[in-house]
Amino acid sequence: MKLNRRVFIGSSAAAATTLAAPTVFADGHGKPRVVVVGGGAGGATAARYIAKDSKGAIDVTLIEPTRMYYTCFFSNLYLGGFKEIDDLGHSYGGLAAGGVNVVHDWATGVDREAKTVALAGGGSLPYDKLILSPGIDFVDGAVEGWDLSAQNAMPHAYKGGSQTELLKAQLMAMPEGGTFAMVAPPNPYRCPPGPYERVSMVAHYLKANNPTAKIIVADPKEKFSKQSLFQEGWANHYEGMIDWIGADFGGGNVSVDPNAMTVTIDGEVTNVDVCNVIPAMKAGRIAELAGVTDGNWAPVNAADMSSKADGDIHVLGDAAHQGDMPKSGYSANSQAKVCANAVRGALTGSKIFPAKFSNTCWSLIDTNDGVKVGATYEATEEKIAKVDGFISATGEAADLRRATYEESEGWYAGITADMFG
Ligand SMILES: Cc1cc2nc3c(=O)[nH]c(=O)nc-3n(C[C@H](O)[C@H](O)[C@H](O)COP(=O)(O)OP(=O)(O)OC[C@H]3O[C@@H](n4cnc5c(N)ncnc54)[C@H](O)[C@@H]3O)c2cc1C
Repeated sequence: MKLNRRVFIGSSAAAATTLAAPTVFADGHGKPRVVVVGGGAGGATAARYIAKDSKGAIDVTLIEPTRMYYTCFFSNLYLGGFKEIDDLGHSYGGLAAGGVNVVHDWATGVDREAKTVALAGGGSLPYDKLILSPGIDFVDGAVEGWDLSAQNAMPHAYKGGSQTELLKAQLMAMPEGGTFAMVAPPNPYRCPPGPYERVSMVAHYLKANNPTAKIIVADPKEKFSKQSLFQEGWANHYEGMIDWIGADFGGGNVSVDPNAMTVTIDGEVTNVDVCNVIPAMKAGRIAELAGVTDGNWAPVNAADMSSKADGDIHVLGDAAHQGDMPKSGYSANSQAKVCANAVRGALTGSKIFPAKFSNTCWSLIDTNDGVKVGATYEATEEKIAKVDGFISATGEAADLRRATYEESEGWYAGITADMFG
C-alpha cells in the first residue's frame, strides 16, 4: 500500500481510538462489566487486578458481605499465640480506592440467561463476565451428630474471624489436664496441612499453659500432607501429647454429641473439653446456585479458570475443580491473576499471557520451626497440571527452619498487599 496523507491520518485516528477506548466487548452498553462474588484470596485479587490493569476501561464490582476479611492463613498462629486477631483482619478500603465498586451484600442467585447476580439486599447486578470465588461450605451430614447449628459448641474454625476467636477462647478455657479433640476432614479440602499445623499450634499453647492436657485427632485419611515432618516435630516438641488416629485405626468412624461433649471413635466414647469438627467440604453455595458445580466442586478450564458449564463465568480458589493445585490462599491468588488477565483480554483485547501457576504452603510446628511444600503448574487441555515441586526435609538444621518461618512471614505480608492493595 502506498502511504499517502489520507491513509496516514485514517490509520492514526484508528490507533488513537484503540488507545483511548480499548473496549471490544461491552454488549452494546458502554463499558464492559465484571462482577466478582467473594472478597477473599481469589476474588479480592481478581477484582483488584482487573481494575488496576484495565485503568478504568472495565467496571468492576465486588460483592462481599463482611467489611473485614480475616484470613484463615496464619489463623493457626493466632491459636498458638504468635499472632493477634487484628493481625489477620483486612478492610476493603484499598480496593475501593483502586477503583473497585465494593458492595457489602450476599449474592443469592445468578441468572445466566439475563447475566445478572441477585443480592440479598434486593436488586441485581448485570455482568458481562462473572467471577465466583466463594470459598467453601460444608457437606451436610458429613460428621454424624454435627451440623451448622452445633458450630458454637463444636467450632470448625475453617472460615476466618469469629469461629477462630471462639476456638481460641475454648482452648484457653480448657481445664487443667483436659482433652482437645479434632475431627479432621476427608480429601479434598481447604489447606491440606491446615489441620496438622493447627494441632501443632494447639499443642504449643497447651505445652506452655496446660502441659498435662491431651490432643486426640480422629482422621478419615490414611496419610496427610507433610506427615513425616509433622510427626517428627510432634515427637520432638510435644512428646506424648498428641494421639493421631488415622483411618487404619477407625479414625473415619466418628460421631459427636455436642450436648454431651463426647466424641465416639470406632465405638469408643470419650468425654472432651473442646471439639474442633472440620467436616467434609464443597464449593461455596453460590456456585451451586449458579449451576456451575458438578458434585461438590465447580469444574473449570485451566487456561483461564472459566467454568466448563458457562464461558462467561469463572470460578477461582477453593470452589474450583481445577486439577493438581491444593486448595490454598496462594493457589487462589495465583489463579486469580491468570483469570484477571484472561478476562481483561476478552473484554478489551489486551494481550493474554500463557497461564502459569504456583503455590507454597508453609506450616509452623513450634517457635521458629517452619516447614514448607510447594510446586509450579501449567495449564493443559485437561487440567492445571503440576510441573515440579519441593518439600522441606526431616532433620533440617534449626537455622533453615527459622529461615523457612521468616519466609512465610514475608509471604503473608506480600499476599495480603496483593489482595487488598
Ligand atoms: C486453618 C487454615 C489455615 C490456612 N493456612 C493457609 C496458608 O498458610 N497458606 C495458604 O495459602 N492458604 C491457607 N489456608 C487456605 C486459604 O484460607 C483458602 O484456600 C483461601 O482463602 C481460598 O480463597 P477463596 O477466594 O477460594 O475463598 P475465601 O478466601 O474463603 O473467600 C471467600 C469469600 O467469599 C465470600 N462469600 C461466600 N459466599 C458469598 C456470597 N454468596 N456472596 C458474597 N460473598 C460470598 C466470603 O464471605 C469470603 O470472604 C488456610 C485455611 C485454613 C482454614
